[in-house]
Amino acid sequence: MNLPLDLPTVILVYNTSLVAGALSILHIRRQSCGPRGLGYLAAAYLLLAIGSAVAWSGEHAVLPMWLWTHGSLLLGLVAYTLFWAGVRQFSGRRLISWRTVLLLPASAVLLGVVTGFPLQNFWRAGTFHAAATLALGACVFEMLRDYHQERLPSRKLLAALLALSSGIYALRLPYIIAGTAGPTGFAWSFYALVFCYFGIALAVASMSNERAEVRLELAALTDPLTGIGNRRWLEQRLPVKLPIQSAIAQLDLDRFKHINDRFGHAVGDHVLVAFANCLQEQLRSLDLLARTGGEEFVIYLPFVTQAEALTICERLREKVAVLHIDHEGETVPVTVSIGLVWVDSAGTKSETWIKKADAALYEAKLAGRNRVVLSVKQN
Ligand code: GH3
Ligand code: MG
Ligand code: MG
Repeated sequence: MNLPLDLPTVILVYNTSLVAGALSILHIRRQSCGPRGLGYLAAAYLLLAIGSAVAWSGEHAVLPMWLWTHGSLLLGLVAYTLFWAGVRQFSGRRLISWRTVLLLPASAVLLGVVTGFPLQNFWRAGTFHAAATLALGACVFEMLRDYHQERLPSRKLLAALLALSSGIYALRLPYIIAGTAGPTGFAWSFYALVFCYFGIALAVASMSNERAEVRLELAALTDPLTGIGNRRWLEQRLPVKLPIQSAIAQLDLDRFKHINDRFGHAVGDHVLVAFANCLQEQLRSLDLLARTGGEEFVIYLPFVTQAEALTICERLREKVAVLHIDHEGETVPVTVSIGLVWVDSAGTKSETWIKKADAALYEAKLAGRNRVVLSVKQN
């Protein structure tokens, strides 16, 4: 394609895209629930636009030489350090204070004032391009290293666009070193950067949306009081048909209504939280624990023998019975009844096993509470 690109027009479009990008990022920052790092990122976009305008007007003799050379380098270096700090925080890492962010560019500019290196095109442009390559490359690293913790598709898109921007600066570097960087090459690379910076702002928006969706989905599956999964969460996680050598336990706190009546609803809530924590501490990471009703919980134990399942439930019951919850000097009595079913045949739906565990729980209540009852097979 032999399309001549006019450098001044491309730079105008480039600056416009940076300002538009900054405004969109600020808009995302206002709209979404607290994404961090976007203030820095928007500031980086704006500083890049200002830096590029300063460099352009300097090259056209609008500003004194010392001002535009040192000024544009300072703005560029601050912008890319902010870019990296913003992306890093947006990815999920802790905030880097603006003083630390300014440290590196300030030292480079101090060195520039002492040695006068920014006055030479080769050194100024070379330093700017090397800094941009490294900062954007570091942004890619930040995005990818957190991917296993937050597997959002837009995270990869953002990393790809950042890598492309870093690659464009890296590609320009040898031409600058060799002194062969011409306006056509620059125009094309600026044109590609317009695409990247727009894309980065869009990817940031889509990552914010994906995060909001994940948060909503999580809230719909989590019990707000205890923080563990609810009935819907359990239904999603349980195999449709339970495998042999697994067990389901149905748990229900004993005389919980009495606890509420005697100590108050807040103490009842506290008991529920302490109870859930106690169960969670005792279970293995592959077991499932859910709050399926007011003071009713279900546990799924995969890969257990019948004897192991019974031992686990007995241990849970004992741990709950010694839970020490004090209210105004009085001990709140907490015990639990457990109905247990051990899966001895494949092909039966999980709901059927849960019903059997429920029937066993009913027997435990009838037999006097604070006990484990194993559902026996009836042929
Ligand atoms: P049983 O030993 O037969 O299970 O007796 P119980 O009193 O535990 O059973 P019942 O089902 O009659 O009472 C359950 C009580 O749990 C009634 C309800 O007010 C209370 N409850 C349900 N959800 C919550 C909650 O989130 N917080 C508190 N504090 N109480 C709750
Ligand atoms: Mg109940
Ligand atoms: Mg109860």
